[in-house]
Amino acid sequence: MAIFRRAGPGRARLASQTVLSLLAVSAVAAPPPSASSTLIVNAVVIDGTGAARRSACVRVRGDRIAEVGRLSPVPGEAVVDGKGLVLAPGFVDTHSHGDHGILDHPDALGAVSQGISTIVGGQDGGSPWPLSDFFGKLERAHAAVNVAAYAGHGRIRRTVMGDDFRRPARPEELARMKELLAQELRAGALGLSTGLEYDPGIFSAPSEVVELARVAAPAGGRYISHVRSEDRNFWAAIDETIAIGREAKIPVQVSHLKLAMRSLWGQADRLIATFERARAEGVDITADIYPYLYWQSTLTVLFPERNFEDRPTAELVLREISTPEDLLLGTFAPEPSYAGQTLAEIAKGRGTDAPATLMALIREALEYERRTGQDAESVIGTSMSEPDLERLMAWKHANICTDGELDGRHPRGFGTYPRVLGRYVRERKVLTLEEAIRKMTSLAAANVGLRDRGMIRPGAFADLVLLDPATVIDRATTQEPRAPSVGIAKVWVNGGLVYDAGSATGNRPGRVLRREPQS
Ligand SMILES: [Zn+2]
Repeated sequence: MAIFRRAGPGRARLASQTVLSLLAVSAVAAPPPSASSTLIVNAVVIDGTGAARRSACVRVRGDRIAEVGRLSPVPGEAVVDGKGLVLAPGFVDTHSHGDHGILDHPDALGAVSQGISTIVGGQDGGSPWPLSDFFGKLERAHAAVNVAAYAGHGRIRRTVMGDDFRRPARPEELARMKELLAQELRAGALGLSTGLEYDPGIFSAPSEVVELARVAAPAGGRYISHVRSEDRNFWAAIDETIAIGREAKIPVQVSHLKLAMRSLWGQADRLIATFERARAEGVDITADIYPYLYWQSTLTVLFPERNFEDRPTAELVLREISTPEDLLLGTFAPEPSYAGQTLAEIAKGRGTDAPATLMALIREALEYERRTGQDAESVIGTSMSEPDLERLMAWKHANICTDGELDGRHPRGFGTYPRVLGRYVRERKVLTLEEAIRKMTSLAAANVGLRDRGMIRPGAFADLVLLDPATVIDRATTQEPRAPSVGIAKVWVNGGLVYDAGSATGNRPGRVLRREPQS
């Protein structure tokens, strides 16, 4: 952070000197006068398609990219010196929880400081309700980033069934859910999201989800899912997702792809083969993934049968999914001092063994939630393996996402994209830089159905990031989840500069991105 701040003024001075010297040159060349525009010079363009990098200038006029190539500044034009850095399309975060915090954090520092220009919310079955209200508020408040959203199945199910959701929906309830989904699609939802490992989605019959996906499909909507199990019933959950794609004729995206159980480790190739088989049969299945071996969720999600007092299940969880040393409380409202402690530490302090402590914490959290109506806990668990992560990240149809919040406890909210670029591109060479950027931009936009974003080409929206591939890296950790990354120099959204020299600029050119009719 300090390095960026010190570099800031110097960079600005250099840019204005460049303006003067380049203006002198262009006065001689006498090109046609131009409407107010910005020319980014001395950058290495990686256009987001996967094509090789090339030296080129990019002219931005208004909210769009006007020209790309060998260009000279025209009179009155602002010139930005790219200083040999990489200019890429702004990153499209296809699985973000930033929709929860964006009205409180309209500068979206966690997002823009890692190069994100568009966040896609309404994930895991939860969405702002109704979307028309949320979109309206956002358009009045103005945010630094673009925001799109799915309509959440869980939100719709809860609205229709209230607290009586621990059962399949009745036909009249399903009919009402379809009406509400249609309403959200009319408001501009990208499609239907589910969180089938969470309440109330976990109690839905597979046919309920298929029926709802059939409402989204003809409207050009898509399906995105936190699948019914990321561990014990994983393969059935993947089969269900593929079946939804096949039966509802809808593109399906698996959210935050992972093999989150020790006995699943090493099966990344089997998973990719399963996806490829489905694709060969005509199911448009894709995925998003974040670059961490640990997730953040709730303690209750670890008990799919919701049998929180079942000791053998607690033992299985701590053996197969996350050890007591690797299970870190993010928040715990009944006893706030537990935040930042592992289950092993808490168990030691309480003088009970780890399975008994896990069961007791859930009991206390549920009691707190009953009393206050507030969420009581969150937890970070380490369940994935590095070789699986690298194999899955490299799958051609997997794009990068954060699954992060703007102000959350998991470092992915600030570190995801720089971590991919620094750790997985530069250090471990899992991806080329061009391929990583494709997975952050054009592939991401395609996987959620956004048009004219995620590519540097004339006519596309001017969402751009200028980054240093030699230094870019994440700094956020579980202990310091909001530590800013290094190596992201500038970020533009719709042609407006939103992040520069380590700080949000205060500009808020972000837009609500509503689903567009299919071409
Ligand atoms: Zn999720």
